[in-house]
Amino acid sequence: MEEQTISIVKQSLNALLENETFLPDLQGEMRTKAFTSLNAILSTPNQIHKSFLRVPLESGEVVRIPSYRVHHNDALGPYKGGIRFHESVNEEEVINLAFLMTLKNALHNVPFGGGKGGIVINPKNFTDKELHRICIKYVRYFNDVLGPDRDIPAPDVGSGEREMDWMMAEYKKINQGQPYLGSFTGKSVANGGSLGRREATGKGVYFTFRYMLGNYAKEHEQTLTGSDNPYAKTLMEYANRPLRVAVQGFGNVGSVTALEAANCSYLQNKVVAVSDRNVTLFHEEGLDIQALVQFSAGNKGDLPTSEEQLKEAGVKASIRSREEILTMDVDVLFLAALENQLNATNKAEIKARIIVEGANAPTTREADDYLSQKGVIIIPDILANAGGVIVSYLEWLQGRETQFYSVEEVYNQLLDKMKHTMDTLLPLYFSDPLPLRQNCYIHAVIRLSTVLYRQGKLY
Ligand code: NAD
Repeated sequence: MEEQTISIVKQSLNALLENETFLPDLQGEMRTKAFTSLNAILSTPNQIHKSFLRVPLESGEVVRIPSYRVHHNDALGPYKGGIRFHESVNEEEVINLAFLMTLKNALHNVPFGGGKGGIVINPKNFTDKELHRICIKYVRYFNDVLGPDRDIPAPDVGSGEREMDWMMAEYKKINQGQPYLGSFTGKSVANGGSLGRREATGKGVYFTFRYMLGNYAKEHEQTLTGSDNPYAKTLMEYANRPLRVAVQGFGNVGSVTALEAANCSYLQNKVVAVSDRNVTLFHEEGLDIQALVQFSAGNKGDLPTSEEQLKEAGVKASIRSREEILTMDVDVLFLAALENQLNATNKAEIKARIIVEGANAPTTREADDYLSQKGVIIIPDILANAGGVIVSYLEWLQGRETQFYSVEEVYNQLLDKMKHTMDTLLPLYFSDPLPLRQNCYIHAVIRLSTVLYRQGKLY
């Protein structure tokens, strides 16, 4: 499993082992044994399911597509996590993403465990009819391990509400007479999805940043101003001033994050750069994000890549290489594309002093350590991008009750939950020397360990 996640969990367990006020009933040899089993439970998944989906293509050719569903841990509730459609999907990656889901749900007190799925394809290389068959086959092959009280998938990179609608329909067909609305989340609203689910992750990502830089910095100005804590210093340097923002990735998460940043009247942001799988667009005066969202919606999700396309979109920008966004001279960098974007190769060139992880695992261990030591604030994935799973939980609840919430109710519940987590963590982060990621992991591990202990699993 991804070395970074395991080693931070190990550090968190070591800190808790030393702290005898945590699980005080466990003492001496019993305590050491319990923590050894905790480490073993958390650093390995419960099950790895793998299948080769047999799919006839429209050409008549039949292909076998590797696909996964990983169950990491279900101590807190049914397994929950997206299904990634990407050609680089592999077992290690899916296991690590499932592990992150366990931690994310524990951190935000969402009553789900951690799971993840993956299908090794580039969806752009398949017709709609073929993608429909792939979705149906995925449900058929994994039906035995899925279900509203067992494992509830959602969209991830390369999949969206269309795929969830198809999958839920197949689940309903196979499991006739059983409840099915809670079997998949991220469905279309017409098909039992939740209002606000599509925007939830991006909204939550931006909220964590806005809350820290705005509300929290204002409310705690006195304590933060005199503090020696390196992250408090960075925060006070960047709070209350105009900020130049860049957003990597312009899909579901990145485009909503960029819109939120551009439309935010609470902070003075200028979104000067956005990027996707092809290109970076830069404009010193700030990009017209709304126009870019409209253009990409009609261009298979891609940003303009030529002067003609920029003209068509009505957007002023210079066209730069895809990777340039990562090392641009900006104050804030939102990462909303893929893993390992900030790494040993580019860590020394990164200029942003505030980094927000909309994507899962976009920062490698080396880059994370290097930037954290320099006082860069990194709002980590399991804190920032939980909006999707929080609203998925609301969708699952609505599906069970067959009562649906207004979009205001959804956003209020989403932001309340995220605010609650931030209020628990930020005072610790700005007063101890640990990076925010470590604080989040400790918090998540405390919740998981307590439940595992109460369930009699630590021996
Ligand atoms: P998406 O498929 O909608 O968008 C991905 C975007 O990244 C696209 O704009 C694509 O062009 C771009 N991209 C791909 N490769 C790139 C590269 N090398 N450089 C720059 N850009 C690149 O996916 P999404 O749903 O927005 O997910 C993005 C990230 O957020 C993933 O890590 C995903 O796991 C994470 N995430 C998504 C959700 C959700 O609700 N969608 C929830 C939590 C976390």
